[in-house]
Amino acid sequence: MKAAFFKEHGGADKIHYDDYRDPVAGAGEVVVRVRACALNQVDMLLLDGRFPPPEGLPHVNGCEVTGTVEAAGPGVAGLERGQRVVIFPGLSCGRCEYCLRGERTVCVRYGYLGAHRDGGYAELVKAPADNLLPLSEAITFEAGAAVPLAMLTSWHALVVQADLRPAQTVLVQAAGSGVGSAAIQIARLCGARVMTTVGSDDKIELARALGAERVVNYRTQDFVEEARRWTGKRGVDIAIEHIGGDTFERSVYALTRLGTLVTIGSHDTHWGRLDLRHVYSKNLRVIGTNLGSITELATILEHLAAGRLRPVIDQAFPLRDAQAAVQHVLDRKNKGKVLLLP
Ligand SMILES: [Zn+2]
Repeated sequence: MKAAFFKEHGGADKIHYDDYRDPVAGAGEVVVRVRACALNQVDMLLLDGRFPPPEGLPHVNGCEVTGTVEAAGPGVAGLERGQRVVIFPGLSCGRCEYCLRGERTVCVRYGYLGAHRDGGYAELVKAPADNLLPLSEAITFEAGAAVPLAMLTSWHALVVQADLRPAQTVLVQAAGSGVGSAAIQIARLCGARVMTTVGSDDKIELARALGAERVVNYRTQDFVEEARRWTGKRGVDIAIEHIGGDTFERSVYALTRLGTLVTIGSHDTHWGRLDLRHVYSKNLRVIGTNLGSITELATILEHLAAGRLRPVIDQAFPLRDAQAAVQHVLDRKNKGKVLLLP
């Protein structure tokens, strides 16, 4: 098959579009013919070596995949060749202490499709049959590929971890990102009010269209000051943070008493300082989370099919132009998800 893979770490120029080993379905596994694969920030960390692929190089990125069933390995039942599917990207053992507690995202053998094994920047990809969900005809392959990581992570962060309630106020960092554009919509779906940040004025309109009440350009405005102004000096109930560094540190100052900061990524840096005085004196909660459950993904797909959630798609590139697609994301030119189509 053809795939866009890398043999050494670096920038977009390290990605080669060429022949690559065909995936073979083992017991309990399925090979899926990729119809759409979305790019993610984690792809960039895998590519540049900040998060080297655990199984080594060469490696194929791509965590968010839709496609059709191509072949099933031994012991797989209930799937037909050609069936439309979306792949849940979390890989877990199902047997460790945390899996048995129902917390599969902290499985001691946890992994992601596209990180801990080859992903969807390819014509074919292999995944456990248990990770497949049917993709309804009401959802395009492109829209389906835009949700399994970004929208699911935002959903889990807001609905499950932060326990978001109607009329609460939420600060969402980076409206133009996959998790940001998803978090704004999910917060609105829950009846919350949203303030968000953008890095350039041309993303303000998108943020408003998604339902953000207040949009702040963090390069020219102080988002902490703006959050105070927006809430009448009170501060926001919940902050969704995925940038790290100064943005993480300052997001804590935007919270009201008993507020919750959920960290779901570290797209600029893995480090962030925490002003402990604010955490204990205001009884703040700082929560980490990653991904969500396959049942939450099924719920999101229902909202998608009904038109209540709409992934923001910036642009789709042919798989052979994966270099250009990755450069587009590295340059932060995208407003929403970037896709590869084999
Ligand atoms: Zn486990």
